[in-house]
Amino acid sequence: MSPPKPGKARFSLAPVQFRDSPIEGRGVFARKRFAPGDVVTAYAPQQRRLSIDDPAATAAADTKLTLVSEDAWVIVPDTQVPGGWLCNHSCSPNAAIYSDGAGRIQCLRAINPGQEVTIFYGWVTLNDATRDPCRCGAPSCRGFINFDITDDDARQCESDTPQGQAFRERFQAYADYLVSISQEQVLDSIAAKLGRLRAKLG
Ligand SMILES: [Zn+2]
Repeated sequence: MSPPKPGKARFSLAPVQFRDSPIEGRGVFARKRFAPGDVVTAYAPQQRRLSIDDPAATAAADTKLTLVSEDAWVIVPDTQVPGGWLCNHSCSPNAAIYSDGAGRIQCLRAINPGQEVTIFYGWVTLNDATRDPCRCGAPSCRGFINFDITDDDARQCESDTPQGQAFRERFQAYADYLVSISQEQVLDSIAAKLGRLRAKLG
């Protein structure tokens, strides 16, 4: 490799740009074409790692930016340094988040230069159905980012009551949707939350 000529940039253009998004706040935008499977950006170029049972990790979870990695530690992004943690949610995401190792954003569907890189948050709430209104703008937008489980859902989910049946239908429709956008891992967090809520309610 020859040394760079004076006055010429010594590095190639960053593959993504962090700037204001029509969805919300700052977002991540492609500067090149990404193909399915390509790593788009690191989740948090600067980060702290806390043990999963560290009380500081639980406190940091309030930011909604922490990432549980390999069931062992929690990645806390340094928000002074932009990264994949800035990705907005979309009901029709073109990328996905992977939490193993240091965490990364990977392309799911072809992304063209200038397009916003979006992921699926997969948030599951309890008795808070309208917590996270969605402004992703996708034609298939579901209106809310979160999937909500009520105490009643948890009590009735296995019963033959109309509420039980309604929950199972809603859950099945959501499961079909998750499969259609390759996000079926969210079913695990729904099952885990439902299990914990059922245990709590007795
Ligand atoms: Zn949406």
